[in-house]
Amino acid sequence: MTSMLLSRLHYPVHNLGFGRRAGIWFQGCTIYCKGCVSRDTWPFEPSSGVRIDEVAQWLRSIPFDAIDGVTISGGEPNDQPVALTELIAEIHRWRSCTTQPIDILLYSGRTPRELGDRFDWMRGNVDVLVSGPYIAAGATDCALRGSANQIVHTFSELARTRYPADTLESDYSGQRRDISVHVDAESIWMVGIPTDGDMRKFEQQLASRGVDLRRTSWLT
Ligand code: SF4
Repeated sequence: MTSMLLSRLHYPVHNLGFGRRAGIWFQGCTIYCKGCVSRDTWPFEPSSGVRIDEVAQWLRSIPFDAIDGVTISGGEPNDQPVALTELIAEIHRWRSCTTQPIDILLYSGRTPRELGDRFDWMRGNVDVLVSGPYIAAGATDCALRGSANQIVHTFSELARTRYPADTLESDYSGQRRDISVHVDAESIWMVGIPTDGDMRKFEQQLASRGVDLRRTSWLT
């Protein structure tokens, strides 16, 4: 069984797509966007390896009536193409067991041109692709995108219903862009796409409450 390098699994995710979602973050990225807030996902750490069937098992533990979609991000998922292909095949097998609509939204820091044949493959295998690197100079507060150069491709009917083109600029399905913050034993981590200056404000607010961050996944 194929393995993937995994940064994190999280459920529920409310801000990277429609409704309640499962989030799967790949570990490892070779794009190195300036201004990336997820630098912790850059190294390809062998110790982060998990089998794809273990990820699928985690997904299957979520009841179908409690999930609207799966968001896959990173890191750069396409830096592990075999694992990504297998993961998405597993998600297809899982969602074929229900009539409940479940969309697959994939983030890639590569442009359609760079993706080449993989872009055609995505057209037939994911509902939504957000493509392109993060470019700090073009930072935006558009829903789903960190910078204006990124493109939201809606490949399926479900995607076009849930992510209509005329609402992608600011919000979709009544949701606005935000970030959610989670705390575990060793770290504070977030889900979502911060807008320009958010991380500085976040650090200042934590400092005012006496929290001193030793290391961050972003540069301010
Ligand atoms: S924004 Fe995404 S694609 Fe760009 S360096 Fe960060 S993890 Fe990689």
